[in-house]
Amino acid sequence: MLVTSIKRWLAPPVFEGAEEKTRQASLINMVCITSLAFTLAVMVGALMGGKTPVSTLIIDLVACAVTLQFRHWLRSGRVVLARFGMVIFGLVFITAVTADIGTIRTPTAAILLFWVLMTGLIFDRRGIVIGTIAASMAVLGLIVAENAGWLRPPFYDVGVTQWVTFTALFGFTSGLTYYINQGTKSALALARKEIEQRKQAEQSLKAANEELHLRVFEVQRLQVELHEQAIHDPLTGLYNRRYLSDALAREIIQAKRANSSLTFVMADIDHFKFVNDSYGHLAGDEVLVQVASLLKKHARGSDIACRYGGEEFLLVFPGTSLELAHKRAEEIQQNCAALSIQHEGKNIAVMLSFGVAAYPDHGQQWEQIIVKADKALYQSKCNGRNQVTIFRDEEFPT
Ligand code: GH3
Ligand code: MG
Ligand code: MG
Repeated sequence: MLVTSIKRWLAPPVFEGAEEKTRQASLINMVCITSLAFTLAVMVGALMGGKTPVSTLIIDLVACAVTLQFRHWLRSGRVVLARFGMVIFGLVFITAVTADIGTIRTPTAAILLFWVLMTGLIFDRRGIVIGTIAASMAVLGLIVAENAGWLRPPFYDVGVTQWVTFTALFGFTSGLTYYINQGTKSALALARKEIEQRKQAEQSLKAANEELHLRVFEVQRLQVELHEQAIHDPLTGLYNRRYLSDALAREIIQAKRANSSLTFVMADIDHFKFVNDSYGHLAGDEVLVQVASLLKKHARGSDIACRYGGEEFLLVFPGTSLELAHKRAEEIQQNCAALSIQHEGKNIAVMLSFGVAAYPDHGQQWEQIIVKADKALYQSKCNGRNQVTIFRDEEFPT
């Protein structure tokens, strides 16, 4: 609980959608926290040592208060104010502390170096140049003051050599910082660009994938359509002969497995040539369509109705006995005879002849059974047409 509160207090503010502002705030926050910790540590050490002048403690206290104020600005979004304040106060404070201590020594240079570094990070190239010059001037001022005797006398002499060395150090370190910072920035920009490119590639891949799915779906639809066209007769919509071989082989297997019968009914329009000759080819087509629709009406869900040839049809009844198939064929025959087909104002009478054969009574293979159904049909034709005949071996000796 306490740790979470401390962590939350120490954390830098995050500004949604403002990356650069967040980055700067996080840097300033880091400097503030470090300065606070550093000043507090110095104060504790000074109080324990007991020889520190009150003025130094007051300066440290002021530094803490001002740093807290910077953090307050930072958290309330006034990042620009906080960074200017921190940079200006930082230089003044460090210089004041140095003057108070009375000499320009290595720790001062270190703190100034840190200050130049942060200035460079926050203000980029301009920060480096100005920071380096300002820190160099501060050191120069301190050296001049020391040599003029305005500050407490140092343990050792400082002169032009120190000034030049410090200035070179400031310039080199801040330049290095700038270089590293720039590298980080360009790496970040590159990473962002790569993410953007990857996102775009992902999107176009997704679009291409969707397009491909659509194409595949369309191809599948066309394949189904093509298959349907391939197995149907375009005039009547019944199955065609191409469909039969697969379907009948399957039906025979199923009948065998179920130990049931499979009946084949061959139907042929009587004197169809006469219809064509008397009323024309179109009238013949119309008759074919009407007869096909009658056959469809009589076919059950599991039955197969097929246009076997010109005016010849095959009906396949699974699980139907010869007797029942005979009855159903007679029904179709009577309904066909009762049809009144109109063509150009003329009434065309149509009659059908049938031949019936079945699995397993008349053979094990569908080809054999069709031949026998055809023979029975021929018998119907010979016996005067418009009738149904069941194949009998004794009438058709092989
Ligand atoms: P039967 O009673 O003995 O069956 O005599 P039929 O005249 O019906 O038989 P035939 O085989 O002599 O004649 C069949 C005719 O069917 C010949 C052919 O021109 C015609 N035909 C075949 N296919 C079509 C078609 O798609 N449309 C039309 N209009 N006529 C067709
Ligand atoms: Mg015919
Ligand atoms: Mg025929």
